[in-house]
Amino acid sequence: MSSTLRFLGAPMRGVVVPLSEVPDPVFGEGVMGPGIAIDPLGETLHAPCNGEVIQCARTAHAITLRDDGNHEWLLHIGLDTVDLGGEGFELLVSAGERVSAGDPLCRFDADRLAQRATALVSPIVLTNGAEIQLEALVTPGTVVEMGEALLRWQVAVEAASAGHDEPGREQTAHDEATITSASGLHARPAARLRAIAQTHAVELTLTRAGGSRVGEPSVGEASAASLSALLNLGLARGDRVRIMARGASAQAAVEAAVALLETPEAAGDGGQNEPLQARPGGQQRAPQAAAIESAPGVLTGLAASAGLVVGPLVRYTVALPHVPDKGENPERERQVLSQAVADADASLARAMEVARARGREDETEIFEAHRAWLDDPDLRAAAEAEIASGHSAGRAWFLALEREIQRLQTGDNPLLAARADDLRDLQRRVMQPLATEAATTVSGIDGAILTARELTPSQFVEVADRIAGLCLAAGGLTSHVSILARARGLPCLVALGEALLEADSDKACLDVRRDRHHGVLELAPDESRLAAVDAELAGQRRQASAERAAAFDPVSTRDGRCLHVAANIASSMEAREAAGAGADGVGLMRSEFLFLKRQAAPTLAEQQAEYRAAVEAMGGKPVVVRLLDIGADKQLPYLPLSATPNPALGERGVRLWQTHPDLFETQLDALLEAGRGLPLCEDGLPTLRLMVPMVADVGELRWVRERLVSRATELGIERLPALGAMIEVPTAALCAASLAREADFLSIGTNDLTQYALAMDREVASLALRNDVLHPGVLRLIALCLEGAAGQCPVAVCGAAAGDPLAGALLAAMGVDELSVEPGRIAAVKAALRRLHAGALASRLPSLLALEDGAAVRQALGDLPKAMLDADDDVPDDGTQGIDGVSSSVGEVKSGIGSATARDNATRDNTTTRD
Ligand code: PEP
Ligand code: MG
Repeated sequence: MSSTLRFLGAPMRGVVVPLSEVPDPVFGEGVMGPGIAIDPLGETLHAPCNGEVIQCARTAHAITLRDDGNHEWLLHIGLDTVDLGGEGFELLVSAGERVSAGDPLCRFDADRLAQRATALVSPIVLTNGAEIQLEALVTPGTVVEMGEALLRWQVAVEAASAGHDEPGREQTAHDEATITSASGLHARPAARLRAIAQTHAVELTLTRAGGSRVGEPSVGEASAASLSALLNLGLARGDRVRIMARGASAQAAVEAAVALLETPEAAGDGGQNEPLQARPGGQQRAPQAAAIESAPGVLTGLAASAGLVVGPLVRYTVALPHVPDKGENPERERQVLSQAVADADASLARAMEVARARGREDETEIFEAHRAWLDDPDLRAAAEAEIASGHSAGRAWFLALEREIQRLQTGDNPLLAARADDLRDLQRRVMQPLATEAATTVSGIDGAILTARELTPSQFVEVADRIAGLCLAAGGLTSHVSILARARGLPCLVALGEALLEADSDKACLDVRRDRHHGVLELAPDESRLAAVDAELAGQRRQASAERAAAFDPVSTRDGRCLHVAANIASSMEAREAAGAGADGVGLMRSEFLFLKRQAAPTLAEQQAEYRAAVEAMGGKPVVVRLLDIGADKQLPYLPLSATPNPALGERGVRLWQTHPDLFETQLDALLEAGRGLPLCEDGLPTLRLMVPMVADVGELRWVRERLVSRATELGIERLPALGAMIEVPTAALCAASLAREADFLSIGTNDLTQYALAMDREVASLALRNDVLHPGVLRLIALCLEGAAGQCPVAVCGAAAGDPLAGALLAAMGVDELSVEPGRIAAVKAALRRLHAGALASRLPSLLALEDGAAVRQALGDLPKAMLDADDDVPDDGTQGIDGVSSSVGEVKSGIGSATARDNATRDNTTTRD
């Protein structure tokens, strides 16, 4: 005789209530049997397990189901609902029918029940097992999802023979499988094995077939209930494993487990060893970047933000919360721990819901694996043993997980070592609410070169003022952390690969050159190198101060092309910084930053004050505010968007506004009020300008203008702000002529334009190198855009390309009117433009457009005579120096140059009576 674990799922979504709290003595005092109750948040009762419907109440308010272990469950919707005589219920099954877990059994009208019944709380009672001890798997008071494991219990079983299932009888089944996932048995498939055991209500164990490998300690068999035990098996690709299940559906469970382990995709393996650390902030995980080959002691990454610094390497970690060492009384500490674990589980469940709603499968699975870990009986037992020896709940949890973390980190399996990060995350998550003092965030980072796999924008902001440089193992050049690093002029390399996380140095040198795509992290620079770096830094300081001194002067190139250099900002505070840096205006205020990191959208008054403050900071220079650009990589916690398989191609930017008019119109009102009574700028356009993101065609822009006119009329505002369109969608570049007729200005968002033109996600590190604005295809789109807009309205560039020395020079030569860059780059970009011979570089455009890819264009630009880009040598007036005459190859790109005069022709009648 042995025992087996059984599980029951939740038959509906709702708040879990202990049976003892059900206000009906028949249920509450356990007269009907042990059980639990749910206060429903839905209107359908589902089967909590596979089984047979054995009874349906005539009045449809209660159903009894016999599960495959012969346990009979009464599912009772609400209290005293028999009195409704069937009103408000719709039975979907009948007695004798076989059902599977999750099948709908009965629909009910919750509103009607709420009015007529004593309560909606619905008992779930085991009617033929008074002696059975049920264990609730969900903390009372928290929300359980339909189908989530709700109860478990143990039953004694007699040994049964292997083979096919026989409902109602205990079965065992076994089989062998070969691990096919490239990452071995990692946390996600382990979590799925556990789910298989729960769904089939079986006890599932895995044993390495043929014992341990030579030199490895035997870790015996592992129960699928314990993630850490499963991972301890250390199963790698090609290993054979024996799977054993015990329970009524043993055979089905074994088959499911074999299918899972033998199908890499089923095991959640993208063919890669994916890290499992959850990304706070909910951003999508990018695949890991492959490290670029470098010399020994030198790591190479992509140049996200230029600079040269020397400092110690410090790995980014958030300090653990302070918890008391000793506990008051073990019983209380156990309760405290249970509550903290349940809270952590509830917050992970919420995060999972959000991730799922946004179609982020990877992230959903990560949270699911973390939840499985929280429920790991081995970890819980270890923590409870610590409590028994006198430790507080927080300390006990710390110690239990710390042992596991150390074991993972010190083993020779890099896969398992990577899982230590996940456990560290869970360690912190549970300890947080038990902390006596707030955790000091990150320590020892002042003046350091910070290393991390990746950072969220909020983590970046927290550390940015203290560190000397930043190196990320993952990340892309146009990811928001890269943009933020450039904005602050903080040297930053991304996509260095996982080797970065092992790197250690007291004095490393981070060298990121502005005109190179790659930069290096030298782990052990010698004395002569350090001396050279010092000398170079002194020279840079002298040059920067000369550039700053000229930053307020107007800019024209050596051959007389006048350009504006504006600033990209995220707040009015940065507008002040931009004004102090000599910006000719704000070319892009990313208004969505105002909406992030909050529980609700900012009010009209808050927004108005922020926009007005930005305008005031710029002292009469133009300020372009981009209307809310939410969706894809920019998400708001209070605006869950419907799940879509490809968020970058889904509802985002202007497409979202028709479905969220409140959000959009409040912003319009705030901007109209902020711009009320402001004078016109020198170029004849209003000071405050609105820019529409993700425009695909002119109809969208017209729709926004109609809404703007209507809101302005309502508010009694006569002069409209200027209205422009971002060119981020390839069709917008191709249709620039029609857009320019409707728009007061255009601004090319090269970050998105490049990603959409090349179909390469800007957040994916492994594509970052090829996701290059200098790809001839992207340049052709830009050339066509300039040609379409020529003579109609000015064209700016506000994507990261504007601040890239090679791309910025080429864009200026192609004829854009403005480059909008991070405030920290303004002085340097102005200085570079003054050194540029635009005509000479423009004459090279046809030959550049004829090249094969971005790398070739970058190389060709880098090889151009310095006189064009960056020197004091004279260039002939006709700009013919070195022209190689390949212009016929781009016959369809007629000029590609020349909306420089557009600003003069672009005056619009910005009144509400505009026709
Ligand atoms: C762009 O796409 O180039 C742009 C400026 O917008 P964002 O980077 O905010 O998407
Ligand atoms: Mg964009």
